[in-house]
Amino acid sequence: MNNKMPVLFVGHGSPMNAIEDNEFSRAWIEAGKDLPKPRAILCISAHWVTRGTLVTAMDHPRTIYDMYGFPPALYEVKYNAPGSPDLAEQVRRIIKKTEVQPDHEWGLDHGTWSVLNRMFPDATVPVIQMSLNANLSINDHYEVARQLKDLREENVMIISSGNIVHNLSLVQFRDFAYDWAVEFDNQVKNWILTNDHKPLINYQEQGQAAQLAINSAEHYVPLLYSLALKDENDPISFFAEKVWGGSVSMRSLRIG
Ligand code: ZN
Repeated sequence: MNNKMPVLFVGHGSPMNAIEDNEFSRAWIEAGKDLPKPRAILCISAHWVTRGTLVTAMDHPRTIYDMYGFPPALYEVKYNAPGSPDLAEQVRRIIKKTEVQPDHEWGLDHGTWSVLNRMFPDATVPVIQMSLNANLSINDHYEVARQLKDLREENVMIISSGNIVHNLSLVQFRDFAYDWAVEFDNQVKNWILTNDHKPLINYQEQGQAAQLAINSAEHYVPLLYSLALKDENDPISFFAEKVWGGSVSMRSLRIG
């Protein structure tokens, strides 16, 4: 099974990580150097939440600037990777848990391109995105993700992008961490390392730190997409692990 593609979860944080030289962008660049080259990449981004499940099916997905108030240089980043209508069709076929519709409107949002701009800077590998269906329960998301598992054997890299701790109402743009954010981030780390996914799915039952850490779940749910794709014996490594801005965990992991 050595030819199985690794799976990544990236804590993306500020969109500025796409262009700023900092500890996170450097960590992503380094992690990217160790990755095999896939035939295509499937991204699940916190920034594409829809009614129903969609998958981008265009030949040339546009770069979407779905963030506000950043320096002009960030809006000049173009991530010109081709799409893959074939892979989109395959995703529609293999997911049985929910109906997946082809999408021709979206493209690559900053949850995807801020990360890929660092990990696959030449943008030659085709990229598609699958949306987070707002109608699904957390457990449903986990089940949907599991149905993508065979793609790992077919040279497709699945990358999910969000943040384990993400509470923007409490964020301050400086380098510090709230105690509860560190507490929950560490708790999640332990559950990840012990393959204990139940408490991660049932995060709403995990007390006050969890409630503060996840004030809306769209940045958290991508983590479950990665974990659902893990085989028992896959190694796990963390290529970033820090809470930044008080309430944003930059924890990023590679499975396999
Ligand atoms: Zn985000």
